[in-house]
Amino acid sequence: MVGTAENFDAIVIGAGFSGMYMLKALRDKLGLKVRVYEAGETVGGTWYWNRYPGARCDSESYIYCFTWDKQLLQEWEWSERYPEQPEILRYLEYVAARHDLCMAWKWQRGDVSRHTDGDLRAALGRITAKTFIMPMSSDMFFPPADCQAEWRLIPDAEFRPIQTIDGHLALFGADTDAISQLDKHLGELLATKI
Ligand SMILES: Cc1cc2nc3c(=O)[nH]c(=O)nc-3n(C[C@H](O)[C@H](O)[C@H](O)COP(=O)(O)OP(=O)(O)OC[C@H]3O[C@@H](n4cnc5c(N)ncnc54)[C@H](O)[C@@H]3O)c2cc1C
Repeated sequence: MVGTAENFDAIVIGAGFSGMYMLKALRDKLGLKVRVYEAGETVGGTWYWNRYPGARCDSESYIYCFTWDKQLLQEWEWSERYPEQPEILRYLEYVAARHDLCMAWKWQRGDVSRHTDGDLRAALGRITAKTFIMPMSSDMFFPPADCQAEWRLIPDAEFRPIQTIDGHLALFGADTDAISQLDKHLGELLATKI
């Protein structure tokens, strides 16, 4: 769900080689809060869009890659001297996963107000189901304050934050207590008469 107002220190347009490194450097070296906007579905840029048969780089693979991850530079084994597009895209997706580069951009692609001409108030105001808003009490990407703004736009919704220091990683099992809290809230939601 898209937050109503969020501030960033830096905006990066594009998640190709350049944007990926830009995000990494701004976030990890300078400690900035960064958002990346990418028109494609994933990282890769040139290597996401150009999928015609035979598309490959013409620089040798050992220099056509990121040099800031020294360990990966040693470990990654290219199958060819001039790899084809699928292999380069696979490499970029691997780098994105390894350095958590996707988290900064992928969430902004879910646009709940696309059927109401971008009007979030109108979109959320149409919800008739009983709704619990359950943000993690601390989360870099979905701060409770953003969720509160959305909560106020949903008729009859309840705000039930999950107490955890693990952010949304708690949902992947990092915090078993958070899972129990969720179970409890969901149990109550399911028991609600409609
Ligand atoms: C077949 C082929 C072979 C190549 N071989 C080599 C090579 O061997 N060596 C070499 O150095 N270079 C090569 N290149 C050049 C290659 O483009 C660059 O090396 C590199 O991938 C460029 O990365 P980038 O991040 O700067 O830009 P891109 O990879 O072009 O990424 C830009 C991204 O920005 C996104 N974007 C742009 N505007 C917006 C917007 N307004 N909103 C949202 N998203 C937006 C695009 O969707 C795109 O994903 C090759 C290119 C091709 C096509």
